[in-house]
Amino acid sequence: MRKMIPINMPLIGQEEIKAVTRVLKGGMLTGRFGSGPMAKQFEGDFAKFFKTKHAVAVNSGTAALHMALWAAGVKAGDEVILPSFTFIATAEVVALIGAKPVFADIKQNTYNIDPDKLEAAITRKTKAVIPVDLYGLPAEIDRIKEIADKHNLILVEDAAQAHGASYRGKNPGYFADVACWSFYASKNMTTGEGGMVTTNNDEYARKLRLIKSHGETEEYKASVLGHNYRMPEIEASIGIVQLKQLPVFAAKRRKNAEDLTERLDGFEQLVLPVEPRGCRSSWYLYTVRIRKGSVEDRDRIVEGLRNKGVGATVYYPTPIHQMAYYQQFGTYHLPNTEKVAQKVFSLPVHPAVTPENIQYIARAVEVAVKNCID
Ligand SMILES: *Cc1c(COP(=O)(O)O)cnc(C)c1O
Repeated sequence: MRKMIPINMPLIGQEEIKAVTRVLKGGMLTGRFGSGPMAKQFEGDFAKFFKTKHAVAVNSGTAALHMALWAAGVKAGDEVILPSFTFIATAEVVALIGAKPVFADIKQNTYNIDPDKLEAAITRKTKAVIPVDLYGLPAEIDRIKEIADKHNLILVEDAAQAHGASYRGKNPGYFADVACWSFYASKNMTTGEGGMVTTNNDEYARKLRLIKSHGETEEYKASVLGHNYRMPEIEASIGIVQLKQLPVFAAKRRKNAEDLTERLDGFEQLVLPVEPRGCRSSWYLYTVRIRKGSVEDRDRIVEGLRNKGVGATVYYPTPIHQMAYYQQFGTYHLPNTEKVAQKVFSLPVHPAVTPENIQYIARAVEVAVKNCID
């Protein structure tokens, strides 16, 4: 069988290996009180790269989101509006706080939260909103910021998939109170597991730094409730190297995505991903959807592709409001979310995908779709 072209994969080189070895030999594996030296350097580099005042390194993207809500003062009984068409973590952190996730529908063309639907979901209890830059395409963050400001809501951007994206020339986080990033192994840059919170707000930054290390203002003296969300030094040392390569990674993803669009353009059965005016995707995922056909047809297409060595994958087959645990938060009917969840699948465009791979993927897609949908 042909070797699988995975949907995403970490790209680790000699420089990362050297950096990790240096940390291991140095013996300082983590910061005890806040960030260690590698984590501090990574935070500084990240803040500079994304033109933000503060960057706080943590040990996962989920920790970043949880801590962002916590620092913003979201409490039990509050409501937080977010899309249902996202990774579980976006809703999970709201439930962990004891607040109620309130799901708003998305737009079909971008797969991102619909600002009108978001505004319609606001109640007296709403405390925060979490737009997600899904598949790496920025949400309509300037409109969402207007709405959040008007209703006095905290704006937390889930930028876990958005390293390298931009909105009207601005990096993710520019329009938000806080932005949360992930460095999970599949993401556009990785530390294995890891995350970052960025903000321009000094007060948030101070609270975030407290929460990530047990709420200690002095060693062994907690002033607020915290957690252990510190990023280990090995991870931070990988992150420093990965960040330097991000522009090259991003350019390769863009080239692959544009080549794939060129090859699939005009293939009537598929709706291709778009970049609305002013938006630049990070191309974390290249996601298409079948115009006609059932969820079974879609699943057969994905299986056909995988049999041909193309790591096609569905993100996300089940919207969060339909997952067992999340039904307690209410019954929703989100037509666009429910429809696209049955029709989308994603194709590999990560930096290790070659031009020959793109040609192969495009052909395999046409064959698989034609075999499954007439
Ligand atoms: C990956 C991801 C997260 C969670 O990040 P982890 O580092 O895996 O904890 C949150 N939200 C979205 C949209 C993600 O893709």
